[in-house]
Amino acid sequence: MKFYTVAIIGGGPAGLTLAYLLRKDVDVVLFEEHSKVGIPNHCTGLVGYYAASFYKSIVDKEVIANVYDTIIFHLEKEEIVITGKNIAYRINRPLLEIKLYNKVESKGYRIKLSTRVTKVLYNHRNKIYTNKGEFYESKYIVLAEGAKGLLSKNIIGETRKYLGIQYSARTNNIYEKEVHVVYPRGRDFFIWIVPVSETSSYIGYFTKPGSYIDRELLISYIEKKAGIKITSTDRVFGGLIPIDRIKWTKKHFIRKIFPIGDTIPSVKPFSGGGLLGISLLAPYLAYSINMGDISYYTKAIKGYRLKHNLLMLLRSIITGLGGLGYASKTVGLVNKIGVSISGKEYDFHERILYKALPILITQPWIFAYTLSWIRTRVD
Ligand SMILES: Cc1cc2nc3c(=O)[nH]c(=O)nc-3n(C[C@H](O)[C@H](O)[C@H](O)COP(=O)(O)OP(=O)(O)OC[C@H]3O[C@@H](n4cnc5c(N)ncnc54)[C@H](O)[C@@H]3O)c2cc1C
Repeated sequence: MKFYTVAIIGGGPAGLTLAYLLRKDVDVVLFEEHSKVGIPNHCTGLVGYYAASFYKSIVDKEVIANVYDTIIFHLEKEEIVITGKNIAYRINRPLLEIKLYNKVESKGYRIKLSTRVTKVLYNHRNKIYTNKGEFYESKYIVLAEGAKGLLSKNIIGETRKYLGIQYSARTNNIYEKEVHVVYPRGRDFFIWIVPVSETSSYIGYFTKPGSYIDRELLISYIEKKAGIKITSTDRVFGGLIPIDRIKWTKKHFIRKIFPIGDTIPSVKPFSGGGLLGISLLAPYLAYSINMGDISYYTKAIKGYRLKHNLLMLLRSIITGLGGLGYASKTVGLVNKIGVSISGKEYDFHERILYKALPILITQPWIFAYTLSWIRTRVD
């Protein structure tokens, strides 16, 4: 039996990006449970400048399907418009994965499609068992299995997950370069409308598992709040979005197991985007494996975790104050006084919030809401 240097579990963007970045002479086996990559497509592909540039540079410019210059947040009582050149991009997710897959395949790596890893045993030689009754050994295991995280549960523990449901829709009354975000209720819930062409968009919502909203209600929110007419929807797809603190212990590395992507979870706390975290961390993991020195990845994760966990804290405070809509209110304020917001800030949300802090502390509505929030808790 062949002994591999790396076994990558999962052929989503995390596993494929890593495989692409590994040196050609590294012995790699990659497992993907589906018969091809890029399916099912649950993702909108909305990213900022950094992630768009990263994927454009490792694949090609064809993966950038749309570029946007306006984001409109529809809050309960107001509308916040943010404009900026190339404020956000949409990556064609299936195409990204197909292109990455072709590049990885051409390196001669062993790719096992339609193969589900059912068990991993961590030993001095890691062992991998599949649903086909096969078994493999490797020095390193990379867990790129996404949000479900069935194998990583024992190492990382359970992560808090939200739900993203998305429809492919025919839309009227929408400018092609304009993304809309609707906050129909105060708390952890929002809707997005992301144009794909002049007449079609992805419409979707983000919520807690168990709080599904039906199609008609979703459409009525969009039509009422954003004034966009939905003439039909054809496909619905969705998935889990892990939004949690990064709980990182030495245990992750003891037996040379490296989680990446939604497995960590490196998803952005405010927008739920996961592609940025992959583009930031995969190069470090690849370098660590290429060099046989895990310290590069350890350091990268530590830095990422610090920023991520601070944002998670901020997210809890903001949702505690009254909902995710408040984050966009902050963004709107910053934009209103002339601070430019670009695709870089869409990637790195925290920069907008840092810009907002001096403004925030002078805002009477923040005090008002804080007071009412405290009052509701005292009552
Ligand atoms: C509705 C929705 C909208 C989203 N929109 C955006 C967005 O606009 N921008 C953004 O940046 N992010 C977005 N995301 C998040 C983004 O899709 C994820 O962060 C990203 O897909 C994570 O990539 P990954 O490779 O870690 O996991 P995945 O994409 O889930 O890939 C994991 C792969 O591993 C396979 N696999 C799992 N277990 C096994 C196993 N045991 N054996 C073999 N194969 C296995 C799975 O089948 C899958 O193909 C969205 C998510 C959802 C649900």
